[in-house]
Formats: sequence, C-alpha cells, structure tokens
Amino acid sequence: MNEQLIGQGFFHLEKDDEIWGFDRRWTVFSNVVWVNITDRLIDLLGPVAKRQIYEVGFSSGLLAGQKIRPHFGGGFEQFKSHVNLSHAMGWGSYTFMEYNEESSEIVMESPNMWEAEGYRELHPKETSSFPRCLMSAGIAAGAAQAAMDISYECEEELCISKGDRTCRFILNPSGDAKKVIR
Ligand SMILES: [Zn+2]
Repeated sequence: MNEQLIGQGFFHLEKDDEIWGFDRRWTVFSNVVWVNITDRLIDLLGPVAKRQIYEVGFSSGLLAGQKIRPHFGGGFEQFKSHVNLSHAMGWGSYTFMEYNEESSEIVMESPNMWEAEGYRELHPKETSSFPRCLMSAGIAAGAAQAAMDISYECEEELCISKGDRTCRFILNPSGDAKKVIR
C-alpha cells in the first residue's frame, strides 16, 4: 500500500469510507466513465454538448476556486496551487505553464490529461476530430476566474486525443463574451 497522502493531504476518509475534502464529499471513478458520458451526450446533442460539458467544468472550477481561496489567498499563485492540487488528485500534470502579466494570458501543457487518456482507453484505434479535454478546459477557466477575479475563457489548442504530442490550453480574459466551442 502506498502511504502517500492524496490531494496534498486535503482529503481524508470519513465513516463508511466516504472521501471528504474542503467540506465536500468526493467520489473516485475511472476516466472511461466520463468519456462514455461525453460520447453519449455529443452523439445525442451534437456540438452544443461540448459547450455544456465545458460549462460543467467551468462552474465546478469556479466553485472549487472559491472554496480554496481561504487556503491560498487568490491571484496567480492560487491558480498554480489549484493546478498542483488537481495534479495531486491524479487529473494530470502540467509540464509547461506561462503567465503573461500584461495580457493575463495563461498557457499550459499537459502530457497526461485524464480526459484524453480516457478517450485513448475507450477508443484505442481512433483519433478524435476535436480536443476532448472539454471539462478540464472549463475547470481551468473557472479556477482562473476564481483566483484572478476576471472572466476567463479557455481553449484547448492541442489534444493528445487528436494525435497531438500534448494537450495545450490557452486561457484568456473574456470580458462578458462567451465563445462557442465547435
Ligand atoms: Zn486534451
């Protein structure tokens, strides 16, 4: 048994083996469960599902960012801590991260995002025609918005599910405008 703390020690088991962290209950499930859900939603609803999946991530990332603010204090340092926490929870590591203070643009790259790996596991012989890390992109935008107090949009420019070498996310201040993910 590996005794390393999960999620930087923010998570613990309560009675009946419930996993709790930040005063919320958490559940462990495989990457493939999520890819199955997104496949079916996209089959059923078409491109509109992609934006909705992004919004699931966005509202979750925003809420998580607000919950961790008392621990990390906001700003880009909080965003980095949020990303490190996601890594510690097994959601994927970031091997590149750049923040432009003038434009507030954030660029991040990950070689092992959970959504891309779930896609490869479920569809080992296919490459996706679009970036699959929809929820991760939304979570990143929500986390950035909660940390930086400005609206963010995130676009996944490269994705391992498409056959790219890495997943690459570009986060930019969005004003009130929301882009459409096609
Ligand atoms: Zn990806």
